[in-house]
Amino acid sequence: MKNTAIYSFFRHIAYNLAKIAVSHMHMSNLIFASHKVFRRHRMLVVLTYHRVIDRSETNEFYTNYDRGLDYRIFENHIIALKKHFKLVSLEEFIEIASSPNGPKEHTALLTFDDADSNLHDYVTPILQKHNAPSIVMAPIVNVGEQTQLWHVRISNILKSATQENWETMQIKTAPLSQKVTQVLLDHELPPAQARRPVALEINKACDHISHETIDKIVNLWESIVQPTNHIPIRSTNWDELKQLQDDGIDVESHTISHRKLTTLTDDEIMYELIQSKNILEDKLNKNIYSVAYPQGYYNEAICRMTEQAGYKIGFTTKRHICTTPIKGLDLMRIPRIGMNGETVSEVELFLSKLCMMSTLYGASMSERRAV
Ligand SMILES: [Zn+2]
Repeated sequence: MKNTAIYSFFRHIAYNLAKIAVSHMHMSNLIFASHKVFRRHRMLVVLTYHRVIDRSETNEFYTNYDRGLDYRIFENHIIALKKHFKLVSLEEFIEIASSPNGPKEHTALLTFDDADSNLHDYVTPILQKHNAPSIVMAPIVNVGEQTQLWHVRISNILKSATQENWETMQIKTAPLSQKVTQVLLDHELPPAQARRPVALEINKACDHISHETIDKIVNLWESIVQPTNHIPIRSTNWDELKQLQDDGIDVESHTISHRKLTTLTDDEIMYELIQSKNILEDKLNKNIYSVAYPQGYYNEAICRMTEQAGYKIGFTTKRHICTTPIKGLDLMRIPRIGMNGETVSEVELFLSKLCMMSTLYGASMSERRAV
């Protein structure tokens, strides 16, 4: 225990020293310059974002995922990124990924998963201000109905629930899912400000049950609790998706139902891939080139089916730099890195680590070595 405390103390000191070095001593420039000396190929990366929001409205309760990234921090990301990376569109990315020479300069593609309505409020103005292209992966099930994603609904339910509601939920959820009921039974209803970990546990339990059952449970709980809509996050409608497209955020596929593809039959997987592509192409009058596998779950067979369904790119959540040129089935399992950091210097430190790894190991660094 004592050793752990000493270790985290020194780790904290080292992290802050590295942050100071990166931001005040221009270390990041040095790190990026040394990459030029030691590596012939520049980095090609795909970056993942989900929700960008005004955190002052959401800090109080919501789970990390619901809370999202504050739009001011997101702008720091874009500023730090643009210092070292060229941000490209999907079409440019596909061309660079397949070219035998790889990128001429460090290149990044920005992707946003799940298509929240907040993209329009917080992301578009920042991307337009910094002239940054990007793509958004939209699951069809959430488009057009102005619905909230189930985990946001769960957060709202938990925030509003009374002790009496909690007991009714414990009894009435049992016939629907033992796993979720067990989470309810394992906890007394905590005070409102301490309910975030329970919401997270329920989210985890829901990962193992079907979409239809989750829907039944959430509908049941809403009828019991009658929750206040504490957080107004909802999915986009078709007009908003068209608007995003017009504003320079390219809309791409995130399947129909957002279920893990590895849990479905081959017929269901093909339906998810082909139908989502067709619907988006039809509604948005554009070509759909890529799909992001929901929650990052995929395998070799899914990659083959993605190719058969006519996609040029399949995005995973494997956290490493792209190895160029990307050929054949590897185009259906493109890695993506979630960006870290709150301030410009923290983001620069993150990018410097990425660059250092690439200098040391090249683009072929393993997942284990990835930042
Ligand atoms: Zn998603």
